[in-house]
Amino acid sequence: MKHIIILGDGMADEPIEALGGKTPMRYAKTPYMDKLAKQGVTGQMKTVADGFHPGSEVANMAVLGYDLPAVYEGRGVLEAASIGVALQPGEMAMRCNLIRVEDEILMNHSSGHISTEEADVLIQCLNERLGSDRVKFYTGISYRHLLVIKGGDKRLDCTPPHDVPLHPFRPFMIKPEVPEARETAGLLNELILQSQEILKDHPVNLKRMAAGKDPANSIWPWSPGYRPAMRTMREMYGFGKGSVISAVDLIRGIGVYAGLEVLHVEGATGLYDTNYEGKAHAALEALKTNDFVYLHIEASDEAGHEGDVDLKVKTIEYLDNRAVRIIYEETRKWDEPVAIAILPDHPTPCAIRTHTSTPVPFLIYKPGEQPDSVTTFDEFSVLNGKYGILEKDQFINAFLND
Ligand SMILES: [Zn+2]
Repeated sequence: MKHIIILGDGMADEPIEALGGKTPMRYAKTPYMDKLAKQGVTGQMKTVADGFHPGSEVANMAVLGYDLPAVYEGRGVLEAASIGVALQPGEMAMRCNLIRVEDEILMNHSSGHISTEEADVLIQCLNERLGSDRVKFYTGISYRHLLVIKGGDKRLDCTPPHDVPLHPFRPFMIKPEVPEARETAGLLNELILQSQEILKDHPVNLKRMAAGKDPANSIWPWSPGYRPAMRTMREMYGFGKGSVISAVDLIRGIGVYAGLEVLHVEGATGLYDTNYEGKAHAALEALKTNDFVYLHIEASDEAGHEGDVDLKVKTIEYLDNRAVRIIYEETRKWDEPVAIAILPDHPTPCAIRTHTSTPVPFLIYKPGEQPDSVTTFDEFSVLNGKYGILEKDQFINAFLND
């Protein structure tokens, strides 16, 4: 049997009054996910290990069965891998957002989802002005970039910028957790303030402001780490070839360390305008030769961060009709059966516009396997499923072990 995981980032939520007390997953019309829940088994997964921040990288690594306390090194190192930056011993990588700051307030974590082309100009400019033998910036995707510090000490207290929108930024600047990290923290905070001086009048930002768009006028480094000691999924689970499809570089980076082939899909944006059909067809193409595909779709998470309930419902319906439907309808015609699992990595409730650690609903559909009594797929229906709350590598083993 072949296996595909379809991950709807941030899809889980809380009951919302405007939806008649339903969650977006419960409210959305999702006939294909419901069909798979009806023919499959369901449960909940605790995707955020105790003591960890409910970040997408934490939750996605957990879905794949990684032991977070043993391998977690932050986002920067994962994103570094996805853009081909192999960290050397002694190098520290950090996620480096381009954010919008106004009158000392952190306005948003994404600079209005700045385009990669515009961001690349700004990152190159920062590299010329602030880069050195020790400090180097690398362009990632949209607002998500990379900062590598030679000899950096990762024992730092950093705040993810999407957790503190509309707060004054200074109280959330980087603090050392141990005296040895004081120098690194000081260097990083200096880089933040210098970036604001360099970026405020940059032509790219003047043009964005003239067009009514958010300027990208500050860096915000966070999630420091060194090269992670992750085993490949092949070593862990013994399958042959696997692939990952995602518009998000940190998910691609997880794929690199997990030994999965990273596939690129034209028009995959990480937003609700993403090329769902293109990703679904790329997944099908990969499944023809692979044993395992990890298809990650970001859109619902961004809708949650924007607090846009209608948009979130739409992204879930898109996932159902424009990805799940295509994959289910095609693979059911194949000779070799294909098992399908669907789940979010974590909730991103519209009401609070950030991630939570609440366990997520999952469904596992294996052709021919005895279903449980659950007939729809959402946060509450799965409470009656075959599985209770799975944690650590229990979900991936339940899925991969036929
Ligand atoms: Zn996520």
